[in-house]
Formats: sequence, structure tokens, C-alpha cells
Amino acid sequence: KKIIIAIDGYSSCGKSTLARQLARELHYTYLDSGAMYRAITLYLIREKISPEDEKAVEQALRQITLSFVPDPAGGTAHMCLNGEDVEHPIRDMEVAGKVSAVAAIGAVRRFAVAQQQRMGRDKGIVMDGRDIGTVVFPDAELKLFMTADPEVRALRRYKELKAKNLSVTLEAVRENLRQRDHLDETRAISPLRKAPDAVVLDNSHMTAAEQLVFALNQVAE
Ligand code: C5P
Repeated sequence: KKIIIAIDGYSSCGKSTLARQLARELHYTYLDSGAMYRAITLYLIREKISPEDEKAVEQALRQITLSFVPDPAGGTAHMCLNGEDVEHPIRDMEVAGKVSAVAAIGAVRRFAVAQQQRMGRDKGIVMDGRDIGTVVFPDAELKLFMTADPEVRALRRYKELKAKNLSVTLEAVRENLRQRDHLDETRAISPLRKAPDAVVLDNSHMTAAEQLVFALNQVAE
């Protein structure tokens, strides 16, 4: 029987790595909810709309269509904003620096959550984010809450960005993670929380292969 797997946790804990692994292993669909908040943020940056101008943000949402399209190379689906593949630009530091403020806006969350819930109507889904087990799919059959040592996380994200040839410093990455975690935990609407029934996975000292085994054991239970 196909289920919904909800993965939440701090920034750069390896949520998307695990979600991808599980989707591949189980032949499920992986959906990256953070990419949706990032795409909305990219739109606002391009249109020079401040996250503080809630009226303008609400109007902008009416101009935004988000979709996931299959990767021609057979990897994870790409995020599309009004039909444009924005998978690369949404990963840059400018978007990372603004996304948590955008994701704290009520209208933005209602917009994203409604679409996420529609995507989950046919099971067989792994979705990662901050509020998937608490708000988007409170009835998910399996909920994982991921954490890792902050320095381990900063190093991982730094290497990932470097591998994509993005110019960043470790210090900037460390500061960005710290800020996003703080904003995500303290926002008024749907703050980052472990669902009471979520299983904690601290992967500070785990390899990717080990965390997959851990998660698959939870699926089997
Ligand atoms: O997962 P990722 O790090 O790409 O998410 C980017 C940002 O989007 C997070 O720092 C958080 O502010 C926001 N987000 C959220 N709720 C989600 C997923 C992401 O608020 N379900």
C-alpha cells in the first residue's frame, strides 16, 4: 500500500537527499516544498516587491503558477515558475537570504499549502519541508524529523554550492542557515516543529546509505 512520507527539519539536514533516495527506492514521487517558497521569492525579487508589502505580495500570487516538470536527465523534477525552469536560480544565495521572510507570510503559506495538499491526493509521495507533518499532511503514515549538528550542516551546504560553482563563503552559508532556522522556528504561522508522532533522525554521523536504511526500516514498520 502506498503511503505519504513527510520529512521535516532544519535547513541543510539532508532532507532532500533522503527524500530523493526514498522516492527512488519505493518508486514514489519526490516533492520539494521548499522549492515552491523559493520560486515565489524569486518572482518577488524580480518584480522588486518587498515581502513587507503584503498587499503587493497577495496580488503577485495571482500572477504565479508553480509546477514541477520531469528532469530530462531523469533526476528530480524541476521547479517551474510560470512555465520557466527556475531550478538553478532558486538555489542562489539571494533567494536563500529572503525566502524565510517570504515563507512567513500567511497568504504565501495558504497558496503553497493548498497546492501541496492537491499534489498529495494520490499517495506514493515523499515531501520535504518545515510543516509537512504538522500542517500539510497531518495524517501522513510516516513522519521523519531530521536534525544534524549545525557545523556539519553548514559544511554540507557549502560543498553543495561549491560543486555547483556558486561563489559563497562558509561563513555566509553558516550565517544563512542560522538565520533561516531562527525565522522558521519563530514565525507566527506554521513554525518549524517536530510533529508529536514524528521519528527523529539525527544524521550528523551517518552516511547517506545509513540514513536510507534507517528510513526504510521505519517504512517497513
Ligand atoms: O527546504 P529549503 O531549505 O529549500 O526551503 C527554503 C525555505 O523555505 C526555508 O528556509 C523555509 O523558510 C521555507 N519553507 C517553509 N515551509 C516548507 C518548506 C520551506 O517555510 N514546507
